[in-house]
Amino acid sequence: MTHDFDHDPPHRNRGDDASRQVDLFDKSPPPWELVAAEETAIARVVFSQSPHGPYDYAIPDAMRSHIQPGSRVRVPLGRRRGGTMGWCIHVDMAGKSRHKLREISELLDEEPLCDPALVRLVLWIAHYYQAPAGQVFDTLIPSSVRSSAGTKQKTYFRADPKDLTEEIVAGLSPKQQAVARILLAANAPMTAAQISIQVGCTEDPIRRLHKKGLLSSERRREQNSGMTTRWQINDGEAEKTHHLTDSQSDALKQINQAVESEKTKVMLLHGVTGSGKTEVYIRAIEHLVKFGRGAIVLVPEISLTPQTRGRFERRFDSVAVLHSQMTPAERHFQWQRIRSGEVQVVIGPRSAVFAPLPKLGLIIIDEEHDGSFKQDTQPRYHARKVAIARANSLGIPVLLGSATPSLESWHATRTGHAERLSLPDRVRDRAMPDVQLVDMRIKDDRTVGAISRPLHQAVQETIHEKGQCILLLNRRGFATTIQCPSCGHVVACPDCDMPLTHHRDGGKAMCHYCDFCIATPPWCPACRFDGIRYGGLGTQKLEVEVKARFPNANVARMDSDTMRRPGSHQKVLSAFRSGKIDILLGTQMIAKGLDFPNVLLVGVINADSALHFPDFRAAERTFQLVTQVAGRTGRGDRGGRVIVQTYSPEHPAIQAASRHDYIGFAEDELINRKKYNYPPWGSVARIIIRGTEEETTERIAEELVGRIEATRDLLKHEIRILGPAPPPISRLRGKFRFHALLQCPESGPLGETIRRACQDFRIPEKDDVQYVVDIDPMDML
Ligand code: ADP
Ligand code: ZN
Repeated sequence: MTHDFDHDPPHRNRGDDASRQVDLFDKSPPPWELVAAEETAIARVVFSQSPHGPYDYAIPDAMRSHIQPGSRVRVPLGRRRGGTMGWCIHVDMAGKSRHKLREISELLDEEPLCDPALVRLVLWIAHYYQAPAGQVFDTLIPSSVRSSAGTKQKTYFRADPKDLTEEIVAGLSPKQQAVARILLAANAPMTAAQISIQVGCTEDPIRRLHKKGLLSSERRREQNSGMTTRWQINDGEAEKTHHLTDSQSDALKQINQAVESEKTKVMLLHGVTGSGKTEVYIRAIEHLVKFGRGAIVLVPEISLTPQTRGRFERRFDSVAVLHSQMTPAERHFQWQRIRSGEVQVVIGPRSAVFAPLPKLGLIIIDEEHDGSFKQDTQPRYHARKVAIARANSLGIPVLLGSATPSLESWHATRTGHAERLSLPDRVRDRAMPDVQLVDMRIKDDRTVGAISRPLHQAVQETIHEKGQCILLLNRRGFATTIQCPSCGHVVACPDCDMPLTHHRDGGKAMCHYCDFCIATPPWCPACRFDGIRYGGLGTQKLEVEVKARFPNANVARMDSDTMRRPGSHQKVLSAFRSGKIDILLGTQMIAKGLDFPNVLLVGVINADSALHFPDFRAAERTFQLVTQVAGRTGRGDRGGRVIVQTYSPEHPAIQAASRHDYIGFAEDELINRKKYNYPPWGSVARIIIRGTEEETTERIAEELVGRIEATRDLLKHEIRILGPAPPPISRLRGKFRFHALLQCPESGPLGETIRRACQDFRIPEKDDVQYVVDIDPMDML
């Protein structure tokens, strides 16, 4: 039985999968060929672009003492001029090669950008997620670090009195004399610019002296001045340390023990919304900082609010916050700070799992169930899995936290792969909010629009009591379909075949899957009927309705359309905290992490929006979303209540969410998943094939899946193969798509089968078909 937690750590070669990792790069010649081979120092190098390698290169003598796994090198590759940048993954000082190897041309960093543990992690990710190691290196080390963004190379000159004796100086030209005297007096290296300003000369005399060998020079990389290191952190929240509740103390004790034991351990902190999980994280980090260790805290990108940052920045001297709106120079600067060991806590989204802390003591993943921890481009890694792999190789614990843990993590606590810590109650004896379900199938003739009578009344009462409301609707835009009532034509994206969403600002019809955008047609493009209808509800339309219903309330909308500009998030949230906004409506952006005591009402406009997706996680996602947004209320002394509008009030996920019953939901859902061996019971991989021509794409999809079937039969692995078939999004950005879903009780055989089947699978360039392998997919569309 293998699942998310039961994987082979990158540093050990046990288990079938990990030991085969060696084969992956094993290019050793048969022994009889070695006799003739000469001993040379060999480096194995991988590339981020095709061909990805690995290829062997000879290490020139001068580089022998510096080169290490993790070093970047420039090497000759094919006929490319100027060489190609690659990553060294292995060095063998007494290597043997059958034929003469080409030499490494240049070693690019004095110190490798990746330490040995991170190199092992790269190789593990490359193996498990079936991605080229060179690409994984590029993911691990941000491009701003690779290009040393925000720094400059500067040349410093120095004068040695032994070379520049008084006699020699006296024989120089007047300008050169002046330069020499300044440098001799300075007793410290100076740049050409500094010298020429002091002397009042051009840089020419400096260059001449240097050429004569009278000055020595060195090049240094320096940071540009004017770096901003901190941004505004105050969102108006005043907070002090708390006296821990009993369950907080118990959880903390376990975490501290795990940290002190210096052993790998996965802990799941299951704490209801408002139970004070963040306080537990902070205390745990305060403890390990005493041992000179640091921590990584991963949060979903949209939870990286000023509130989250503020809570950590108030409690620690040295925090690095990584976020998507950093400039390359800032990102590089923070990376260097982290690597130097001066940072105690790194907070960031999934890529922060790679933060190069030299003495990492704990990795925390808050809201560990969140989908944003999985990367949706190559390498398609999940930060939780990578965190556990990294922790394994370092012998440190991982702390996962959530009110609605992923079933993978929950299952791990049932099988002994993770330890469960519980915060079953809210802090200060606060009650969980009451949840009322409103059955939207029952049409009340006084209900027009998206808001039911009970919800309307509740909003009115809340505003009357000077409380605040949160309204969740998980669709952005105005209308989600544009349809002709006469001929039935639906305006769709020409590249994706998906219905376009009408956006009222600017009258645009936009594709939410690609960047296609046109002016919304005033009449039907198919039959010219001029009464085209907008159907379906988006946040823009909801905003219009809310403003009309509650004309005296201040309303703000938060979705990715209104949150484009850096800082807009922070602006809305602090206006909400200060009470300037009465009703905050938006997409799932408002469902996460927010802690505002005056929110007395949460309304869910349509709880079913994700329930009927063709995805085995649909129920889980619905439960999580409703529970999380419900958790935004009842956080003050005035209590709170929740109204959930739904067309499926009897659905178990919605029922359980209305009772705040995570455990009940999880146990039932585990039984459902077992029927089909879906994760966490087994492993799943998805293969997506896309191409410009439908028939060719389908043919190649069938060919590839046929190979997988044959490999499975050859290896006698128990793998169920569904497809190839068109996925729900059967066209994307002008390409036809097919996918296949592979299921297996264990991840090792599944990975091995795909790897073997794909090894020599080449698609002729003229077919213009590509495929990707997605291990443990989160997205089925
Ligand atoms: P969660 O992440 O579990 O939903 P938070 O960490 O946001 O909860 O905490 C909810 C609120 O409770 C925060 O305002 C926090 O300051 C407060 N809090 C945390 N621990 C305690 C405590 N022991 N006593 C009183 N208040 C606390
Ligand atoms: Zn499109």
